Amino acid sequence: MIEHLVRKNILALKPYSCARDEFKGRPAHVFLDANESAHNAPYNRYPDPLQEQLKERISAIKGVSAQSIFLGNGSDEAIDLVYRIFCEPGVDNVVAIEPTYGMYGVCADINNVEYRTVPLSAVDYAMSADALLQACDEHTKVIWICTPNNPTGNDMDRRELQRVLTEFNGIVVVDEAYGDFSDMQPVRNYLQHFPRMIVLNTFSKAWASASIRLGMAFASPEIIDFFNKVKYPYNVNLLTQQAATELLKNMDRLERWTNEVKHERAHMMPCLAELSMVKQVYPSAANFLLVKVTDADAIYKYLIERGIVVRNRNRVALCQGGLRITIGTKDENNELLAALRRYGHAF
Ligand SMILES: *Cc1c(COP(=O)(O)O)cnc(C)c1O
Repeated sequence: MIEHLVRKNILALKPYSCARDEFKGRPAHVFLDANESAHNAPYNRYPDPLQEQLKERISAIKGVSAQSIFLGNGSDEAIDLVYRIFCEPGVDNVVAIEPTYGMYGVCADINNVEYRTVPLSAVDYAMSADALLQACDEHTKVIWICTPNNPTGNDMDRRELQRVLTEFNGIVVVDEAYGDFSDMQPVRNYLQHFPRMIVLNTFSKAWASASIRLGMAFASPEIIDFFNKVKYPYNVNLLTQQAATELLKNMDRLERWTNEVKHERAHMMPCLAELSMVKQVYPSAANFLLVKVTDADAIYKYLIERGIVVRNRNRVALCQGGLRITIGTKDENNELLAALRRYGHAF
């Protein structure tokens, strides 16, 4: 059902066959097939190329069948694979909301795919399904929607999203990297209704594991088969698979941390809004706040000099004067507030 959207060379691709694919399912104890070392140092063996045990755990937590899960070296791997599977370089194009996560555009450039941007509302960063659909032509293969959006922090309106999902005939990628911090229903719950939707989640944000580099894509088994065909054979290393398995044994802790972020976010909003240099604090369903200030470059530099790093979004479309501030611990947030309160004073 999606084959007409897939690049011809990918449809025809004969994927690399891992040594261990060939005997799969039968018991064995002497492994002389993969030119590995016989010495367990202890990482002598290649890892499971499809990460089946880890996917079973994730399946139970996310409510998505294991056949509908792809795991990659961060969500960034899944983003790149979307281009490599669906977009003919120099021919096809993709459409994305603007401003949004930078990697969609970078991967488009790397793959020589035209990247069309559709500005969000300058007032409240809402997206327009009409505007997105109007930007499409017969070569548009993918629409990128990030919700809650980075760097604006807002949830995209669900009716607008649904219109894109029902009216666009190509692939719609919904990036829910920050979904855990939102009160909206996760979009992955509607995978069955939208066979051309790909949902991205990550271990890097609410799951507090950016350094293990593990991203998730949820989609129909048909789409996931193409991801598996095109990915590098052992794209998620054993250390990462083990670390993720350990992490998922303690879901209570992750939920507690997410609630702490939401609580601190609600606390920080009015505290920031009352500062004299702050012009606007945007509502956020993510673990950061977009804050417009009087002089973003100067305040950014001032904070750096005090050892506090925020993200300067001053030169991003529709974000002029914007700083993106991640919610930290209570102490970190208070240190930021104290520094901002002293801004413009001699000491
Ligand atoms: C941080 C972030 C990601 C996560 O990327 P990883 O490669 O999984 O670390 C994905 N999408 C958005 C919008 C993000 O902000």
